[in-house]
Amino acid sequence: MTQHSIPLGKIFGIPIGLDYSWFVIFALLTWMLAGSYYPEEFKHWSPLLYWLMGAVTAIMLFASVLLHELGHSVVALRYKIPVRSITLFIFGGVGQIGAEPPSAIAEFFIAIAGPLVSLVLAVFFYAVQSLVAGVEPLLGLAKYLAYINMALVLFNLIPGYPLDGGRVLRAIVWAITGNIDRSTLIAASVGRFFAFVLIFAGVWQMLNGNFGGLWVAFIGWFLDNAASVQIQQTMFRGLLTGHRVSQAMSTHCAIIPEDLTLQQLVDEQILGSGQRSFLVNRGEKTVGLITLHRITKVPRPEWATTSAARVMLPFEQLKCVDPDTELWSALQMMDRNGVNQMPVIRDQHVVGMLSREDAITFLRTLQEFGSSPAQQPKPGRS
Ligand SMILES: [Zn+2]
Repeated sequence: MTQHSIPLGKIFGIPIGLDYSWFVIFALLTWMLAGSYYPEEFKHWSPLLYWLMGAVTAIMLFASVLLHELGHSVVALRYKIPVRSITLFIFGGVGQIGAEPPSAIAEFFIAIAGPLVSLVLAVFFYAVQSLVAGVEPLLGLAKYLAYINMALVLFNLIPGYPLDGGRVLRAIVWAITGNIDRSTLIAASVGRFFAFVLIFAGVWQMLNGNFGGLWVAFIGWFLDNAASVQIQQTMFRGLLTGHRVSQAMSTHCAIIPEDLTLQQLVDEQILGSGQRSFLVNRGEKTVGLITLHRITKVPRPEWATTSAARVMLPFEQLKCVDPDTELWSALQMMDRNGVNQMPVIRDQHVVGMLSREDAITFLRTLQEFGSSPAQQPKPGRS
């Protein structure tokens, strides 16, 4: 979960969070429901009732979205895939599922579970309407939830990755070709196609005076971004597969003694060399890592009296990596831990540093070699 979200508790051990952007959509939905949907359906309510039902309906909509995400998560947990969190945000919900599914079948069932939950909810709220027909607020609520859950089913089944329908498509292509990367590329390209259709349809609506089109175009733009990220990641992973940390790390990492002051460090090392991270040694032993980021957190007047040892990240807290680790999984580790560099350790000795920049430089070199495939050992993942 990001720092931008408010924790709501846990369900099945999965932390549930509310992104701050959720409040924007909550306010907008409540206002739309209280200002137009309910007054058009039911003419004689008090203003207070319109607003109350607007808010209740918006909350129930997000409860529906949460159940949809839980549908995906429960099936993922059944396949022993960790689910890190579920966050509700402006476009609905997003579940952080911790790994790629182990098989096409698993992918299929995880993907289809969310829309199935929404479909069950839509049918439930549709059926319940006749039972609550005499109570107007409940009838309005059931009607709206039946409609919105059905809309969730239809939207999510658009066969463009990373929407659920796109995941189903990916699972099918994966089952046929046996190649997960190729199926991701195909499903994400279809995702970009549908994204453009949405953007085009949204702009078209706006040109015809319907400003709801802005929302459609915005969702299309969002989908296009998500699909592009997937395409890029898959290509990166394809390029990096088979390569190890030792190939990309830099071996000339700067070492400083622990009693060096921040002032000396900045004047003598950082300004001269442009290096941004340093290993901190006590005698021969590395005891920590200091980065530009940590230095800038100390007020400038204290630099002359503060030693590197006081500001460094102690060695015990450092995320380290073995030189033989796959480069791709090392990058994922960085993402998970939110760090920009990792010391590379062999037999308790620092043998290098791996930073994101190192990985990008390595990737560029590989791409240049890409034109002569003979030079590039690339066992494809299948
Ligand atoms: Zn879904």
